[in-house]
Amino acid sequence: MGDTTPGLVCGHHHLYSALARGMPAPPRTPSTFTEILEQIWWRLDVALDLEMIRWSAMLGALEALECGTTAIVDHHEGPSAIEGSLDVISQACAEVGVRVRCCYGVTDRHGPDGARRGLLENERFLRAGGAGMVGIHAAFTCTDETLEAAAGLARDLGAGVHVHVAEGEVDAGAPARLGHLVADDWIVAHGVHLPRPVPPKWAETTLAHCARSNMNNGVGYARPRSWPGRVVLGSDGIGADMLEEYRIAYVRAREHDVFTTPVEAWAWLEEGWTLVPESRSDRVRWSYDRADDPWCLAFTPGVRALDVWVDGAQVLASGAATRVDSAEVRARAAEQARRLFERL
Ligand SMILES: [Zn+2]
Repeated sequence: MGDTTPGLVCGHHHLYSALARGMPAPPRTPSTFTEILEQIWWRLDVALDLEMIRWSAMLGALEALECGTTAIVDHHEGPSAIEGSLDVISQACAEVGVRVRCCYGVTDRHGPDGARRGLLENERFLRAGGAGMVGIHAAFTCTDETLEAAAGLARDLGAGVHVHVAEGEVDAGAPARLGHLVADDWIVAHGVHLPRPVPPKWAETTLAHCARSNMNNGVGYARPRSWPGRVVLGSDGIGADMLEEYRIAYVRAREHDVFTTPVEAWAWLEEGWTLVPESRSDRVRWSYDRADDPWCLAFTPGVRALDVWVDGAQVLASGAATRVDSAEVRARAAEQARRLFERL
């Protein structure tokens, strides 16, 4: 029995979406996953500039820290401000005191030049020593040439690929198109429509299971218990409260199979440490003296992070960030959100 754990890891995040809450309703109510992308996320990401990306990342990192999450595996998109964007995200997280693995989600949605610039941003950032992976948005928004180039770059740099795979039915062709490229150092986000049993090469990748996001987008259940490889939990941009993601992943699994235990869902959360091993040495002190007991945590609401140490330094003290002024971060982020909404 104890009130501390290592730092938690969000295995799939979109820090750029932290400003999205409160955005004006889209012109039409989206009725499919593709329409949700087109009418919400693809209108939002194209409107982002570097200043918005910076404060979005500051807010997302702050909120992660306040939830005891000390490491974020981020997947970024912002086609109007590609160059330097990964540095901006990486610096914002460092300022707050949260670890981050960055990538830029390459896509042909904005033509071959957009894809080329996205690839270059991944390469520039990684070659300069940045911590991260090569990002691909999703196979259904990329040409075969772009998929080959991104996978090849990841192979050359030994970085791995972070990619959305078969999140919705629209991307059900992804396993076939990526099958000759996939490698064991890839993070496969969602994987809802990947066939089961999972094809051999995919079985060696890491599935980032985003239970709440999948429910929110109505894309179906990813069946993480039938994934033979590693499973981690991701928020897909809906904050980084990983205790909450754990609870949702647990009840969603129970709905599908009532024999699932909290221990299995907790193991998914713990696998996050394989993505960012240093986070295992971070410490979180919680407002609950059974924070190391998955059975208790699954049914205890309102457990809060009180103190957090990252790399030996205290970055949260009695629930307050020590390196940044949380009120100022929220105010600046709100200011940038207003600018963003005006552009939509
Ligand atoms: Zn995602």
